[in-house]
Amino acid sequence: MLHRILQAALLPAVLLASAGAARAQGSLNLYCSVQVEWCQAAANAFQRESGIRVSVSQKGSGEVLAQIRAEAQNPRGDLWFGGTGDPHLQAAEENLSAEYRSAALDQLHDWAQKQARDSRYRTVGIYAGALGFGFNPELLARRNIAPPACWKDLLDARFRNEIQMANPQSSGTAYVMIATIVQIMGEDPAFEYLKALHRNINAYPRSGTGPIKSVARGETGVSISFVHDAVTERLGGFPVSSALPCEGTGYEVGSMSIIRGARNLRNAQRFYDWALTPAAQALGAETKQFQTPSNRAAPVPPEAPQMSQIRLIDYDFARYGASAERRRLIERWDREVNALP
Ligand code: PLP
Repeated sequence: MLHRILQAALLPAVLLASAGAARAQGSLNLYCSVQVEWCQAAANAFQRESGIRVSVSQKGSGEVLAQIRAEAQNPRGDLWFGGTGDPHLQAAEENLSAEYRSAALDQLHDWAQKQARDSRYRTVGIYAGALGFGFNPELLARRNIAPPACWKDLLDARFRNEIQMANPQSSGTAYVMIATIVQIMGEDPAFEYLKALHRNINAYPRSGTGPIKSVARGETGVSISFVHDAVTERLGGFPVSSALPCEGTGYEVGSMSIIRGARNLRNAQRFYDWALTPAAQALGAETKQFQTPSNRAAPVPPEAPQMSQIRLIDYDFARYGASAERRRLIERWDREVNALP
């Protein structure tokens, strides 16, 4: 099992190449931006039920967007499962994804249907999750550092070199953080904040779950992460807690899109319909990933952060998922923040 998971994580190109050779009927190439355990569980369950052979390539949301763009003239992937909603909206606007209206759409929460409407039915919400702080209470106690409670706390000198957030060029999670700060503070103050925060950041890993895994291993005290990811690490036996920022916070509508020009279009549509069912959506919790599922009939795992109890901002998905805006904000971050010593 572990061997298969590692294969999926480390050798996607090889897997996809062999799937490409056996193309035709009966296969599906899945690009997947949730954690690899869920990707593999979804692939296995769908394969068992449908007889369609599924190959998995797991990558961060920004990385899959870049790959789909690079492959636009010769698509190798059929369906993009999971990852934050903004890059899925960007793909829709750039005509990289295909319109599809599943019969299951009206079973979904409003926020998931809105994601479909905003994209003219080129993507759909499959889960939601709120952004917050992960921290290692044992490590912070040893260093005599009080945990963060507010976005503004992260600028405090007590967190010098103690915080990780992912790199927004590859990670959808990190882009949600930037868009959240811009929406809370206004753009110029937000970039002043991000520059000041840079002093306290020890690394910007590629993947959105990199920072919380560093917290779990005791390599950094604090991460900027989805709070459901802290639950995963805690259940894995690691000393990880989470907090929700006092100023309010942003959230993701994790999404799914069929890639335009998919060679296995009918199989992609079958997977899409299946992935919106309550049974398929329960696989997230079965692999210890605790987002809130988008099908109203899917069980919300008791471990999942209760979205209705969280002070969420009115995240403007249409604006921050727009191609020019997302590209501009990430480039500004790279120029003004990432380039700092
Ligand atoms: N893994 C989990 C558990 C998530 O909730 C998300 C967000 O959709 C991701 C991964 C996305 O990862 P990244 O920030 O690398 O795009």
